[in-house]
Amino acid sequence: MVPQALPGGPGLVGVLALQGDFREHLRLLAALGAPAREVRVPAHLDQVSSLVVPGGESTTMSLLLESSGLLEPLRRRLADGMPALGTCAGMIMLAAEIVDGRADQHCFGAIDISVRRNAFGRQRDSFEADLDVEGLVLPLHAVFIRAPVVERVGPDVEVLATVRMADGRKKPVVCREGPVLVSSFHPELVGDPRLHELFLQTQPKTLQTQPRTRKDHVRAL
Ligand code: GLN
Repeated sequence: MVPQALPGGPGLVGVLALQGDFREHLRLLAALGAPAREVRVPAHLDQVSSLVVPGGESTTMSLLLESSGLLEPLRRRLADGMPALGTCAGMIMLAAEIVDGRADQHCFGAIDISVRRNAFGRQRDSFEADLDVEGLVLPLHAVFIRAPVVERVGPDVEVLATVRMADGRKKPVVCREGPVLVSSFHPELVGDPRLHELFLQTQPKTLQTQPRTRKDHVRAL
């Protein structure tokens, strides 16, 4: 069973739980000691101070946001500056523009980036890499699964990590703009919570966990 904090309160982290690997995010947040709960309907969203949008399938997530009634309330919260972390499909959902999305696919414009879905092509649908991420001392092991890349960043977007594409050019895969952090890959799948910690550091004080060493993380998980 994935631990859930109930009911809501200041500092409660929401994890959008319509589709995708939301359980892995909940587990990581629990290991960090951050109170978190699933968000499936608008009433859940009202209880949380920030939101994690997981990896999965952005077109399906988009449809489920409509049918759950979450689309507009979530759009408003993000426009009001709610902190958000998006991984893979979650990055696509939080982007300002999807270069090759489906015509009926929604995105929130919470971070001023344009993303290309499934950008690594068929042969390289999935791969792993050790990435240098600004703000992290040691490389982060990153799992890319039918991952998007960032094709354009706005003037206020910080690029925290890049990967080299097949044509030799580097493209951003971790970006931050204010309280919104996104990654093309799945930090939730490797049991390394440092990207989540980076996200929690942009939150109100009640949300932050104690600094830990990498060893502590491994033990906690
Ligand atoms: N390719 C998926 C999409 O377009 C994202 C894949 C993932 O989240 N692992 O939504």
